[in-house]
This record gives sequence, C-alpha cells and structure tokens, in this order.
Amino acid sequence: MQRHDWTKEEILEIYNQPLMDLLYQAASVHRVEHNPNQVQVSTLLSIKTGGCPEDCGYCPQAARYHTDIEGNDLMSVSQVKAQALRAKSSGSSRVCMGAAWRNVKDGEEFEQVLEMVRTINKLDMEVCCTLGMITENQAKRLAEAGLYAYNHNLDSSEEYYKEVISTRGYEDRLETLSNVRKTNVTVCSGGIIGMGENLEDRAGMLVALSSLNPQPESVPINALVPVEGTPLAEQERVSIWEMVRMVATTRIVMPQTQVRLSAGRTDMSREGQALCFFAGANSIFAGDKLLTTPNPDVNEDMELFKLLGLEPMKPFTKKSQPKTVDADQSEYKPLGEKPKWTRPGHTIDRNLEAKEKAKAAKTKV
Ligand code: SF4
Repeated sequence: MQRHDWTKEEILEIYNQPLMDLLYQAASVHRVEHNPNQVQVSTLLSIKTGGCPEDCGYCPQAARYHTDIEGNDLMSVSQVKAQALRAKSSGSSRVCMGAAWRNVKDGEEFEQVLEMVRTINKLDMEVCCTLGMITENQAKRLAEAGLYAYNHNLDSSEEYYKEVISTRGYEDRLETLSNVRKTNVTVCSGGIIGMGENLEDRAGMLVALSSLNPQPESVPINALVPVEGTPLAEQERVSIWEMVRMVATTRIVMPQTQVRLSAGRTDMSREGQALCFFAGANSIFAGDKLLTTPNPDVNEDMELFKLLGLEPMKPFTKKSQPKTVDADQSEYKPLGEKPKWTRPGHTIDRNLEAKEKAKAAKTKV
C-alpha cells in the first residue's frame, strides 16, 4: 500500500532509529512487495555529453564549470543500438539514455532520440530517457515510441535545491513529472545525498517523492561524487551508514518502488552494497561509467550477484512492454512549443566562484 501523507518528522524518526531496527523494518517491507533476491540491472548511456547550459552544482557536464569532461554531440541510432545490444548481452534489462539538455526541443535531435527509443524497445529491453524538462506532447511522443520510464530527479528538498541550482525551479521538475504521468510511461525520480544538505532536507526530498500519487516506480539514491572544478568539489563523501539509512528509509516510505543504488557505488565495499540490498535496494546501474563518473565494472557486479545469490531481474517484470508506434503511423506531431520554464536566477556563491575560476583557467590557456 502507498501512503502519500508521510511527514518529515515521521521520516526522520524512521531514519534515526537504531540501525538494526531500521534494517529489520526495511527488509520486512521489502519482502512483502518484492523478490529480495532479484535486482534490476540498468545501463546508463550518455547519448549527448557536456556543454549543458544549467548550473547544477554537482554536475561536471555544466559548461560553465572547468572539468575535463569530453563533450560529445548526439550519438547516432546505430551507435546506440550497438551499445544496447552489448548491455543486453551482459545482463542489463534496461537502457537509460541521458542527454545533457536543459529541456527537450522539438526538432531533428528529438526525432533521433525517438528513433533510439523505438530501436531499443524492439530489442525487448526497457528504455528510459533523461533529457531534461519535457512538455505533455513530448511525453506522449516518447510514450508512443515505446518509452518505458522517464527519469527526472528532484535532487534534494525544495529548500536545499535552491542552494545547488539557480537556472531552473523545483516546480518545473514537478511539472515534467506530471507531464510524464499523463502517459503510460513510468516515473523515475530520486536525488543525491552528500551535497551539504541536512537530514531534514533528505527527509524533505522523501516527503516530496512519496507524496506524488502514484509514487515514482523507480527512485535512484545517489551519493555525490565530488568532481574537481564543480562547486561541490570539496564536499566530504557520505559514509556507507548514511547510504544504508537513506536506502532503508526510502524503501519504507515507498514500499512498491524500485530503489536504485546509483552514483557513488565505486566507493562502497561489497559488504556495504550487500547491506543496501538487504535494506531494500533492488536496482543498480551497470557499466564502468555513470554518465561521466566511474562505476563498478559489469563483471565485478556479476561476481557480487553470484556471491550474494542475487539474480538480474528480467525486463518487463513489473509492467508489460509498451508498444512501439513507428514514425509514419504516429498520432502525435511536434508542436514546436516554446514553454516558459522558469529561471529563478538567484545567487549561489559557490556556483559563481566555480564559474569565475573556470573563466580564469580558460583565459590562462
Ligand atoms: S545535471 Fe543535467 S541539467 Fe544539470 S548541468 Fe548536468 S546535464 Fe545539465
């Protein structure tokens, strides 16, 4: 059963209880709703890397910061197909395609992404996209192409979000999620811990996610991977205990959701990951890179699965495969919309400092 009225206080009480009690409670909830020995494996593919106009303080793909990310234009459909086949043969059931865009714009590149979605769905894999903000019509076009999930993270609580990003508003994130909900595409939305937020912010993010009705089918929990040049480069890494507590709490407040261990897994021991699986994590990203940050090798993951007696979940276990409508049969056409997504533009000192440093470094070269 889903509860949509969790309060921050209740969530903090769950999060802060003695660890053994928390683990027991989370594992018990997990076993009611899921097979505890199955974990869904996704491969994240950066189909367009770098050069993003946004100022997300954690992201090496933001053009304004000085990071050594190599930018790439949009991949071709055949490149994506080859990568998807590789992912499938190494046990992934889902391909998640990420493009470093503020929002989707109707046009040639979006048509190319739609073709990628059709191609991967025809390989009988779940397809997910994370392309920034989208309109209802764009969500419908993705659904028609056979998209299984759309990812759009809330990142943190509404209050702390303002300390990390100034180029777009929390309400736009929610509007995109609501546009996705107008289709049969499932929602993937989570956040990052370790950005300097406090426990109230972590609880606040879980209040925001759990109050969505229905709750997101997938909730990624990322641990910040601080990257040189970004405003959050100096943040201390979160401990495994914080990750375990966050995963367990997420599991309890969103019992039916797939809780995904995402960025930051390279820093976790096998024992730490096993605790997260016990606490209710039942989805991981595979592949040696997560967009631009390192991730454990697929073989290492499969060894860990063997050690723990886990098996990769088959595609479409939770929801049946969507149908793909080919481009020439499509009911929805591009509308050429120019939605007015917000741009709060408030000052975030550390973002400005990182931008200035990057400017200075560029002029030196
Ligand atoms: S997180 Fe996404 S929107 Fe933000 S800067 Fe990175 S690529 Fe752009």
